[in-house]
Amino acid sequence: MTLSDLELERYSRQLVLPEWSGAAQARLRTANALVVGVGALGSPVATYLAAAGVGTVGLVDSGTVELSNLHRQPLHFTPDLDKPKTATAALKLRVLNPEVQVEEYNAHLSEENADAVVAGASIVVDCSDSFETRYLVNDACCAQGVPLVSGAVLGFGGQVMTIVPGRSACYRCAFETPPPRGSVPSCRDAGVLGAMAGVVGSVQALEALKLLAGVGRPLLDRILHIDGLTMEQTLVATERRDGCPACARVPAAPQSV
Ligand SMILES: [Zn+2]
Repeated sequence: MTLSDLELERYSRQLVLPEWSGAAQARLRTANALVVGVGALGSPVATYLAAAGVGTVGLVDSGTVELSNLHRQPLHFTPDLDKPKTATAALKLRVLNPEVQVEEYNAHLSEENADAVVAGASIVVDCSDSFETRYLVNDACCAQGVPLVSGAVLGFGGQVMTIVPGRSACYRCAFETPPPRGSVPSCRDAGVLGAMAGVVGSVQALEALKLLAGVGRPLLDRILHIDGLTMEQTLVATERRDGCPACARVPAAPQSV
């Protein structure tokens, strides 16, 4: 697979990286990344994936743009108020990079549709803001052997872990059960700065690009914790758990990651 002159120019600053290559770029072009949640984390994730040349970027979100979203969700602008987030995000991404196919799933991810939405994805990036969705995405990715980058942000804290089902700990291995409903505050209650979400989302995008291109060492069996107030980063080791209901019996993903 050869890259066009326009692609060589558009991606020249990443192609020149010694770790990157035309083959890595070609792998991105054939990839299908699904971004679950197009808000504070999904905005930087979808932007960087589309800009880098991931061939298909799917956006899953059932929400509409609210005024209180705009300080931390930079894919949505003030004239987008009350419009579906998937539509306003897709519009920007198509302008950013017309080489990329952007697919819109204006729907809430549920037990009924999760497997169908995840099917066919090369990678899923979980940018949702609820534990219910986080476990749902994890279980659907494990069931189908699709790699997953899971991320969360609250206040000045963030965490990211990368999962290759059958090879590394899944979210349910690391966090066996969801916290009791209402025990963890939401961004609405606890607050969040847009720049902090940008840090976490950028790490998620970087992890996804590394996995898709086959470069570097992803956050497998490691959970990255970031404290935005002190800039301290902590890596916490985790491992697959025997009998994990999500991943114990899944075969390893076919990707060479
Ligand atoms: Zn597991």
